[in-house]
Amino acid sequence: MAPRPTAPVAALRAYDPGHDLPALRLRHPPGDLVELGSNENSYGPSPRVMEALRAAPPEEVFRYPDPLGLALRRALSTKLGVDAEQIVLGNGSHELLMLVAQCYASPGDEVVFSEFGFAVFPIATAAVGAAPRAARARGLDDAMPRGHDLDAVAAAIGPRTKLVYLANPNNPTGTWFGRDALAALLARVPEHALVVLDEAYHEYVDALEIPNGVELVARHPNLLVTRTFSKGYGLAGLRLGYAVGHPEVIAVINRLRESFNASALALIAAREALEDPHHVALIRAKTRAERDRVGGVLASAGFFVHPSQTNFLLIDFHEPAGAIEAKLLARGVVVRPMGGYGLPTCLRISVGRPAENDRLLEAFGA
Ligand code: PMP
Repeated sequence: MAPRPTAPVAALRAYDPGHDLPALRLRHPPGDLVELGSNENSYGPSPRVMEALRAAPPEEVFRYPDPLGLALRRALSTKLGVDAEQIVLGNGSHELLMLVAQCYASPGDEVVFSEFGFAVFPIATAAVGAAPRAARARGLDDAMPRGHDLDAVAAAIGPRTKLVYLANPNNPTGTWFGRDALAALLARVPEHALVVLDEAYHEYVDALEIPNGVELVARHPNLLVTRTFSKGYGLAGLRLGYAVGHPEVIAVINRLRESFNASALALIAAREALEDPHHVALIRAKTRAERDRVGGVLASAGFFVHPSQTNFLLIDFHEPAGAIEAKLLARGVVVRPMGGYGLPTCLRISVGRPAENDRLLEAFGA
């Protein structure tokens, strides 16, 4: 018999990507499969990024990368108005979300997050043997249906809470909370608990009430903000995220971080991507227009469309969504089933380019 893992890991299931995409791609002519299941930015990165990658010398491949990622951290420091010592890079922000749990929670500790929160939070909690505490989310009749209820989150925090994970906007709901709600929560979190504010979709946000977590870090030494180049910047395949927080928290994370977790090509691409804010603004505007179009059509068909400040929509079909998903897939459109999130009547659909969204809506029409 194979060796047994720890009890919390034995209770976990491996990450479910939804579909075997490489196998699906082989079954369709090149470019035919419409991939709207993983919240990628199908508009792609800035053309400057692709140019910089093509021009990269062989040294960038055969040497190890800068283990401190200093040039990128300096560029981020200038852009964000924080010290480079307040920034740590990750192999995607996913890695940082996992590392934080390893650094701050152990068996006997509690980790708080919200119902319908990001799937990585319970996994990070189980990985270190800590106890999960899931706060109830908002009701369907609320202005922010299934969104985080920060009062419930605050009520779930106790003397053994070491970490509080919040995604704003949230995946898979697309919903968000405002700056007043966050300020009230931060005022209630005890100093011994670290609040991890996951802003993976920050570049898509245009609602003015949504707080910019990085601006709050100076006032809250127990706040860590994570962001990523995977979404708005379109670099998901290169794997690069970062966290911004108190220098002591960053120094702690650096003790466990793998030395070369950010690859050389990812560092080049991210620096170049930061040089083209116009591209990100364009992506935000195009995504918003397409999100409104797709959401409008599906809402007028009678489905429940959750409000979203991201590049995806959570749709509730008021019936088990498996059959709808299968029919979309039969027409070459991949979306994400939500049974694993406890939302079996929902599908999560990324906002693609106009032609991809047309294919989605045609498949729905059919
Ligand atoms: N946080 C949220 C809320 C996400 O949706 C994702 C990606 N789906 C991540 C973090 C991780 O992204 P990455 O590792 O590519 O930075």
